[in-house]
Amino acid sequence: MSPTPSRVLVLNSGSSSVKYQLLDMRGGDRLAAGLVERIGEKSARLKHTPVGGESREWSGSVPDHDAALKAVAAELAKDGLGLDSPELAAIGHRVVHGGKRFTEPTVVDDAVLAEIERLIPVAPLHNPAGLAGIRTAQALRPDLPQVAVFDTAFHTTMPESAARYAIDVETADAHRIRRYGFHGTSHAYVSRETAKLLGRAPEDVNVIVLHLGNGASASAVRGGRCVDTSMGLTPLEGLVMGTRSGDMDPAVIFHLMRVGGMSADEIDTLLNKRSGLIGLCGDNDMREIRRRVDAGDERARLAFEIYIHRLKKYIGAYYAVLGRVDAVAFTAGVGENAAPVREAAVAGLEGLGLAVDGELNAVRGDGARLVSPADARVAVAVVPTDEEMEIATQTYALVEKER
Ligand code: ADP
Repeated sequence: MSPTPSRVLVLNSGSSSVKYQLLDMRGGDRLAAGLVERIGEKSARLKHTPVGGESREWSGSVPDHDAALKAVAAELAKDGLGLDSPELAAIGHRVVHGGKRFTEPTVVDDAVLAEIERLIPVAPLHNPAGLAGIRTAQALRPDLPQVAVFDTAFHTTMPESAARYAIDVETADAHRIRRYGFHGTSHAYVSRETAKLLGRAPEDVNVIVLHLGNGASASAVRGGRCVDTSMGLTPLEGLVMGTRSGDMDPAVIFHLMRVGGMSADEIDTLLNKRSGLIGLCGDNDMREIRRRVDAGDERARLAFEIYIHRLKKYIGAYYAVLGRVDAVAFTAGVGENAAPVREAAVAGLEGLGLAVDGELNAVRGDGARLVSPADARVAVAVVPTDEEMEIATQTYALVEKER
């Protein structure tokens, strides 16, 4: 008798890229990982790494997501991990926008596809890519369950007081305008791992999660359930990010239209692509910004201070939302690696029980770890995120349940 299939392929399809990982859920092992980028451009690039083997790279024509997934399948096949393998249990897809309806990972059928499509107006860049990934995977393995794991799902537990904007209710509802939040897979995973690090059950722990990558968001998690998050209708709201402005007076937009003569599309590009750290100082990579700050560069210093000021405001706000905070967890590229960001974000918050230990904070490490002093009232933790593992775990749990 053949063993029960236990592998999950995770696909994260962006507008011009596909990231993937193949995992074996029996032991939680990663078997292969890779990335196709610049899809649809003159020369796309694929990088494939079988675990324990040499990475392979090539550049060439990859006109669309269909071609990208076929190229991924061909690379996996070279390592004996092809999509035709009977050991593959399911394909898990990251889907950015699940609206109000998708509160959990969901096996894809025609109705689910139609609903993801219906949400395109609120996620015009992201949902079409997710759909393309699902459709191609379905064509390659029509017999396999395809599971959609939504970036918004973890945030659907937010109370109306946090999820609604204070605008006319009829107008908001007619256009499905509300705060949905994103990076949910990461906030879910990191809040749970933080509880584990504290040796407590997630239900007993209140955590502020700071997901600081190129995109960045904060969330307030009470007993394992999200009660507030900083991104809103789209990922533009909240923290200062690599290229996004985060919070600002919405009247800036009317001003740019009326006085600056800019179109809606131009302002969209300005606020999403040319603002945040890159707009403030010309760089969005925190490593480069810190190098410039250390060299005495004034613009970089101001950009860093604006970034930290906003972060600190969210820590304070979510402290008030939660009432009692057990831990503040830093994650993603900046949160996991940039000790100066962690130090500056909690500087002066001793009154709230928050502090970092200089030595612990400076040590680089791979796993989840505490960086607060041993006697701190609130733990400050670095908790590496693993969105692919979380998508695979949720996908596998669902197909196991339905088996
Ligand atoms: P995303 O998934 O949003 O693209 P990541 O979570 O991979 O982003 O984070 C990318 C960012 O992490 C980079 O833009 C860079 O600013 C930051 N980063 C990565 N390594 C370091 C480091 N050693 N020190 C400071 N920042 C870092």
